[in-house]
Amino acid sequence: MEKNVHDIVIVGAGLAGLRAAVAAVEVGNKLSIAVISKLHPLRSHSVCAQGGTAAVMREGDSFELHAWDTIKGADFLADQDIVEFFVRQAPKEIINLEHWGCPWSRTPDGKLDQRPFGGHSFPRACFAADMTGFHEMHTLYGKAVTYDNIKFYDEWFATSLIVEDNSVRGLTAIDLKTGEMGVFQTKAVVMATGGHERIYEFTTFSHSSTGDGMAIAYRAGAPLEDMEFVQFHPTGLVPSGVLITEGARGEGGYLINAKGERFMKNYAPKMMELAPRDIVARAEETEIREGRAFKGPYGPYIALDLRHLGEDKIKERLPLIREVCIKLVGLDPVNELIPIRPAAHYSMGGIRANIRAETPIRGLYAAGECACYSLHGANRLGTNSTAECLVFGAVAGEEAARYAMSTELRSLPMDKALAEEKRVFDGVLGSEGSERVPEIRREMRQVMNTDVWIYRTEEGLKRALRKIRELRERFKHIKIEDKSKSFNTALTSALELDFMLELAEVTTYCALMRTESRGSHYRLDYPNRDDKNWLVHTLAYYTVEGPRLEYTPVTITKWQPTERKY
Ligand SMILES: Cc1cc2nc3c(=O)[nH]c(=O)nc-3n(C[C@H](O)[C@H](O)[C@H](O)COP(=O)(O)OP(=O)(O)OC[C@H]3O[C@@H](n4cnc5c(N)ncnc54)[C@H](O)[C@@H]3O)c2cc1C
Repeated sequence: MEKNVHDIVIVGAGLAGLRAAVAAVEVGNKLSIAVISKLHPLRSHSVCAQGGTAAVMREGDSFELHAWDTIKGADFLADQDIVEFFVRQAPKEIINLEHWGCPWSRTPDGKLDQRPFGGHSFPRACFAADMTGFHEMHTLYGKAVTYDNIKFYDEWFATSLIVEDNSVRGLTAIDLKTGEMGVFQTKAVVMATGGHERIYEFTTFSHSSTGDGMAIAYRAGAPLEDMEFVQFHPTGLVPSGVLITEGARGEGGYLINAKGERFMKNYAPKMMELAPRDIVARAEETEIREGRAFKGPYGPYIALDLRHLGEDKIKERLPLIREVCIKLVGLDPVNELIPIRPAAHYSMGGIRANIRAETPIRGLYAAGECACYSLHGANRLGTNSTAECLVFGAVAGEEAARYAMSTELRSLPMDKALAEEKRVFDGVLGSEGSERVPEIRREMRQVMNTDVWIYRTEEGLKRALRKIRELRERFKHIKIEDKSKSFNTALTSALELDFMLELAEVTTYCALMRTESRGSHYRLDYPNRDDKNWLVHTLAYYTVEGPRLEYTPVTITKWQPTERKY
């Protein structure tokens, strides 16, 4: 088995992973750093981020206001010390990217421009047209490749962490080109593998967003936090789910039902279409359930109306949205309504990490969407995620570097790497059952889309849990026809499904146990927020029988929970 030795291994080359790599070298320029990614870095989902990155950049705005918007948006489940740290760091990251060459959109007098976004009470989204993530990623990648001591392992698929005495020793990963399992011996691992939205059928996320790093860390003993909180974005394009950025509403777009009404006036009279996503997505779902949606060949939908913005503004501010609509559904938003409905869009939960991006396993750090620092609580505000990837990517890189400089490389238990190789090639690829991976995946996504969706009930969640456990049993009897080595996507799809089934179970179980409604988690049978019993984070620990849950209090510094009105 090929063995590679590095001081730090970063898994994931999205915004968080790339930012971590650059930060690590800047702390320790002699360190040897590996960045492993199952995709070429510029195929990471981060390139899809459209609308912007939140930061306090001008007079009239303040850290206090950004923190309050985030905490209220989070339905008071955010840890307030984390939020206060985050809002102060975000502007520095915008300026870093500016210095490294990011082509931010500007005002006529040359200053960084900012646009409004849902739940933010000040226009604080810095943006690069509607391709913010694309430009941020190219800027960061361009910066990262200038360092000789960052080595990229593109198209390597991580499968497991090697941990002994609760400290990281290494990681196993398949080199997709050769199809061979390799092992990395290292002092520190930064997990930056993104979200798990592909457990759902209708989602804005890339096919690669299968939550691998969350499942890998969970199986290695790290707790997953607040997994019941999944964000549903109000404007997934019908039928593909491709995102229509909230920036479209930030620029003044309306949501209308089949009666031609701007129905948000009944749900959030002050902020209307720019209320936080949980509220807007629920409003749309209610319009659909109560029969006021448009009817189409792909089921009921809501319309996003940009026509009144005019051709010039749409072409200047939302060129990608226009292109997506023309290419994918054959309509031009300059003259026509865009068919949309809520789509799974973000995982507020993830690997529990503290303000230094440390997880409870020594030497394991987490950054970006796969992590949960309790920044977004029960509902993330748009544009806070890319900002989080930059802020906490930098923290994770710096902390991992400091740790690596102060520790010796420890021995690597090769028996664990060999056991993992056996699990993947004999267990999964060699399995001689009759079950099909695409069929199990389809059934998982379907049940998540119906029973673990925007409106949840005990009955539905129990049904989903039974189904997921049945699917996990069936997964043990799969058959993969393609036994080839190089780029065996049938094998990687099976490994991804295995991770997704794990996370679907955790998400559903945590949702079943939380008997209240808060942020994105809405229980029809428990419709109220219950601060007396539930102002707590959920921690899920791996056991062979299924997740074991613990709860831990929310950190409140100065903002007491109040009723959430918009
Ligand atoms: C369409 C869309 C638009 C969005 N718009 C915005 C926006 O405007 N503003 C905002 O703040 N947020 C936005 N978001 C959310 C935000 O983009 C993401 O949360 C964020 O980019 C995630 O970055 P990340 O670095 O954590 O992970 P990702 O960018 O998802 O990268 C994950 C990385 O991990 C690697 N990886 C995964 N599994 C493995 C494995 N097993 N082995 C090896 N490598 C692995 C992948 O190859 C990839 O490099 C948007 C999201 C979507 C889907």
